[in-house]
Amino acid sequence: MAAIQLDLLKVSEWGIFSDTKKPLIIAGPCSAESEQQLFETARALKSNGVNVLRAGIWKPRTRPNCFEGVGADGLGWMRRVQRELGMKTSTEVANVKHVYEALKAGVDLLWIGARTTANPFAMQEIADALKGTDIPVLVKNPVNPDVELWIGALERLNMAGLKKIGVIHRGFSTYTKAKYRNIPQWQIPIEIKRRHKDILMICDPSHISGKREYIQEVSQQAMDLGFDGLIVESHICPEIALSDAAQQVTPSSLSEILSHLVIRNVET
Ligand code: PEP
Ligand code: MN
Repeated sequence: MAAIQLDLLKVSEWGIFSDTKKPLIIAGPCSAESEQQLFETARALKSNGVNVLRAGIWKPRTRPNCFEGVGADGLGWMRRVQRELGMKTSTEVANVKHVYEALKAGVDLLWIGARTTANPFAMQEIADALKGTDIPVLVKNPVNPDVELWIGALERLNMAGLKKIGVIHRGFSTYTKAKYRNIPQWQIPIEIKRRHKDILMICDPSHISGKREYIQEVSQQAMDLGFDGLIVESHICPEIALSDAAQQVTPSSLSEILSHLVIRNVET
């Protein structure tokens, strides 16, 4: 099949990142767990200069019987964050029902999780459900290191008329034990950027690392490689998080991490 050139809108025109200075930062808990946990995390992030909140409402867990998210109740809590803190909000959608509920609740940005990007039927249904909207959508890499599958998901959204599209690099699963939870294989997101120069390229150091102590080094590597921003899991009390506890950082540690980043890539 002939390569499709994506028709993309520059991030400065997305209307969500008020400050287009790099790195663009999205942060928040792996999962929204309670109204208080979400609001307190958001308030602390906002006071540290973060303007876009992330929170999983529907959680695609690898094994059953784990916490699978609070569901639509969390959307009301996100609205409160928008209203009272003036932050933008983002969440993961994995099926058409999630899309409709998130759009109805006024979520500002959606992301597609790694397990969904790997499923073309799910991607097509989501793209069809988003037709006629102009909501920004960030697509995580599929769990497996398949650049074409990742690009296929971007093309499905773009062919449905969406132009505010970006990628999130969260590393690739592996059976063998390695330092990081998900192996970066940085050449794969870089290949997407080579083919689609204008695509927004965000790194998720939390899911790559799997441990909070590696977030700094992975974030720095992303900056050195020209990534546009970071999506980082941050929880007001990471030790008691209901998902991904080992990789979440407090809002103040996030601010510390960001303050130590060396930004060598200036915009061309
Ligand atoms: C998440 O962002 O919390 C998540 C489930 O990520 P991924 O799809 O990258 O596993
Ligand atoms: Mn997570």
